Amino acid sequence: MGNNGDFRSTKLASMYGEYSFNDRTMRERLPSSIYYKMKDIQEKDQVLSLETAEVVANAMKDWAIEKGATHYTHWFQPLTGLTAEKHDSFISPTPDGRILMEFSGKELIKGEPDASSFPSGGLRATFEARGYTAWDTSSPAFIQDLNGITTLTIPSAFISYRGEALDKKTPLLRSMHALHKATLRVLRSLGNTTTSRVYTTVGPEQEYFLVDKKHFAQRPDLRLTGRTVFGSVCAKGQEMDDHYFGTIKERVLKFMHELNQELWRLGISAKTQHNEVAPNQFELATIFDTANLSTDRNQIVMKMIKNVAERHDMAALLHEKPFAGVNGSGKHNNWSICTDDGYNLLQPGDNPYENAQFLLFLTSVIKAVDKYAPLLRLSAANAGNDHRLGANEAPPAIISIFLGDQLSSILDTLVEGTEHNHTGHEMMEIGINVLPNFPKDMTDRNRTSPFAFTGNKFEFRMVGSSQSIAGPNAILNSAVAAVLNETADRLESSEDCLEEVRNIIIDNYRDHRRVIFNGNGYSEEWVKEAESRGLPNLTCTVEALPELMKNSYVEMLSGLGVFSPAELQSRMEIYLEGYSKQINIEAGIMAEMARRQIAPSIISYLNSLITSVKNQNEMGLKTEEQLAHITSVSAHLEGLLSSIKKLEEGLKKAQALESDVVKQSQAYRYRVVPLMDALRLHADTLERISDKAAWPFPSYEDLLFGL
Ligand code: ADP
Ligand code: MG
Repeated sequence: MGNNGDFRSTKLASMYGEYSFNDRTMRERLPSSIYYKMKDIQEKDQVLSLETAEVVANAMKDWAIEKGATHYTHWFQPLTGLTAEKHDSFISPTPDGRILMEFSGKELIKGEPDASSFPSGGLRATFEARGYTAWDTSSPAFIQDLNGITTLTIPSAFISYRGEALDKKTPLLRSMHALHKATLRVLRSLGNTTTSRVYTTVGPEQEYFLVDKKHFAQRPDLRLTGRTVFGSVCAKGQEMDDHYFGTIKERVLKFMHELNQELWRLGISAKTQHNEVAPNQFELATIFDTANLSTDRNQIVMKMIKNVAERHDMAALLHEKPFAGVNGSGKHNNWSICTDDGYNLLQPGDNPYENAQFLLFLTSVIKAVDKYAPLLRLSAANAGNDHRLGANEAPPAIISIFLGDQLSSILDTLVEGTEHNHTGHEMMEIGINVLPNFPKDMTDRNRTSPFAFTGNKFEFRMVGSSQSIAGPNAILNSAVAAVLNETADRLESSEDCLEEVRNIIIDNYRDHRRVIFNGNGYSEEWVKEAESRGLPNLTCTVEALPELMKNSYVEMLSGLGVFSPAELQSRMEIYLEGYSKQINIEAGIMAEMARRQIAPSIISYLNSLITSVKNQNEMGLKTEEQLAHITSVSAHLEGLLSSIKKLEEGLKKAQALESDVVKQSQAYRYRVVPLMDALRLHADTLERISDKAAWPFPSYEDLLFGL
């Protein structure tokens, strides 16, 4: 850090965005004709010509070299959910033995990583194993700075030669386009002539844990799987409300300070930070932007959290459930639809007309969420999130919407109004005229809803903390676009548009009201109630993911041009495979830690107990309770050893099912996972009843309170 984070000497404003080839930099560095061409390309979907690219590439290269870069990379988001990059240098040797620093327009636009080992689910035949990367011109290039080593980084999509998406970014961009087109159709039908571009806006809130690096280093499970496969909650862990929004410790504050600077320098607006519910759990929110920019930035945020934590001798855990029995981590995905002329379409308006439009969009989202609930659910499914959704102590995996009492009752009145009075005009007039402004605290009190309306946006809270937000937003955009296209069909063919708007609002709400739930989403009663309403409850990844191939969903997603059927099939397989791999690693680590660390330490402990009891007996002392204790330790040790054996057998069987992705994932979920739970039960009990000092790895207490 140049200024050591002291903003008394360096102006934050001059540092903000200095590592981003953003609008300001482009204005400074590009000839104005090229600058305006770039703006058209970014805002109006115009094609980037090679000529323009040449000029931009050259300016970018000069800018990057001034920042010390010798290399550039196309940076993309393969289906692993992480990011990938391949670095090329600017260096170009001349015949007389010197070098030139070059970066061509072609190199800027297109890269060819040798990326054949990324999962593609069979989309790339081996003879064309290389996909190519293409610059996402709407996302500014930036400088990655890893301890002073800087690299020009070009956010890209990753595509096969036949044009199939091999990454998370491409479908997201397609879905944004689909939503843009559908929304514009609706707006035009409503008489809007001013909007030319519609954007999906997203503001993600990132939760994470920090643990001390020395503890982290001693836990193979944390290092290799991101979560603790053993460990039991310490007494203090249960009452952790004092941490929520509590004072941030100095060590953590120093970390956050540096993290913020790294992000600000990249033009990423890290805005809020606070302690979360669990001890050593934190949250970082960035200010919303278009969905693709927020996706890129969230990937950078996740990486930066890890890097900066490392520098502060801590490890950041982005896993959805690093600790059993302790609050998990999510990524609240705040989502809305905005226009280039400055309207947020989910913002209640100031007049009846605007309010009618608001209710039209609001109820369209409600319809989309109900109609495509399984898709939304599966977009948040992975092995980590299975612990957060639908599992034992976790909230249910049912998709429902929190609207708040006020809005719900306005919509109820509208629907009932038409039921009682077929003209309905009067009710509608009243309903719309009195539509109040919804202050955030009125709408956001319920924190248990997976999909909440929070005043002027929806907050999709199922998304997992380690996930890319590209997938959930691609699904959400598509679902809403599909519904808005139906809305547009009706509006375009109606004689009386305003009358039809009213009808659509009422139909949307009446037919999909079942998805609204304003009560406690974590309660047992809700699970029963949801079932009686016919709402799907897909409790785990293995149940949820195959829904992707349902005909109506494939038709919807391919009809919009977001995913081809082949892309969907490959994604389902890759994600299920990812699930199986994750469980396979976790189970393997468990068996290993239990056999090589827990069992030996318990055997020594038992030996010392037995020796002590024998000695005490020789002295004629009473040892009844101690014998009972020995018996119990020994019984759990036996249980542990036999559970290891069963787990290893179960693992072998699951591994053998390699040829059938679906069957294999089911074997992991329904056979291996229960065996892991059984093993854990013995191990966690042993931890509670044996010598704390001799336990072979750091406990939950160390991890959760050791900063
Ligand atoms: P919370 O109490 O949930 O933290 P905030 O109002 O602070 O609520 O907002 C949380 C996130 O929502 C922030 O990232 C913010 O930028 C984002 N957000 C606000 N308005 C919008 C919008 N119109 N579209 C998308 N995200 C938004
Ligand atoms: Mg929130």
